[in-house]
Amino acid sequence: MKPKILIVEDEPSITDTIQYALETDGFDTVALSSGTAVIPLLSQDPVDLIVLDIGLPDINGLELCKTIRKAHDIPIIFLTARADEIDRVVGLEIGADDYLTKPFSPRELSARVKAVLRRTRRASPSTMSAPGFKVDESKRRISYFDKILDLSHYEFKILKTFIRRPGHVYSRDRLMDLVWEEPETSMDRTVDTHIKNIRAKLKTVKPDVDPIVTHRGMGYSLKEEL
Ligand code: CA
Repeated sequence: MKPKILIVEDEPSITDTIQYALETDGFDTVALSSGTAVIPLLSQDPVDLIVLDIGLPDINGLELCKTIRKAHDIPIIFLTARADEIDRVVGLEIGADDYLTKPFSPRELSARVKAVLRRTRRASPSTMSAPGFKVDESKRRISYFDKILDLSHYEFKILKTFIRRPGHVYSRDRLMDLVWEEPETSMDRTVDTHIKNIRAKLKTVKPDVDPIVTHRGMGYSLKEEL
């Protein structure tokens, strides 16, 4: 499958050149000319990388990036026309993956896109994954269909346990041993409650999918395939 790149840029001539260069290099592209349309699009249509102009008519690209980062784990390359914006872009506060100053060559942009994708994908062996899921251990984050889940301490541990071995059935006792600091103080019911909460959170991302399987009298597992 071709990686899909979202281009957010209000100057049509720049969008056209970028789209041409990226599609020539084997990428799928989708383009938006305003910032407010980005979040609704991402919730429906996951993309692999975003090329984001800072000078958008409706919202500042840096602010938009912060909003995107709250819910999505997608690499972002900034486009800027102003040298004074670069300091903020490279600052840790925003966490850009790369940036280009206008005017830039579309070939250069395409090369940067490839490099960022290579870098972010190479990082993934250290992260665990199961169909639909990705665990970022260093950030203690689990994303589900590219949406970062807002999980409690125990929910994170339970889900991470499942993701490590999709298909494996974990009994309630085993889950408690694995994730609870003091298993003897907890009850089976607590495991069920946490599973119920996790399921509810997953459902807000994909209402029609339930990746957790209940095995009557045995426990729970994560589906090997969705
Ligand atoms: Ca602009």
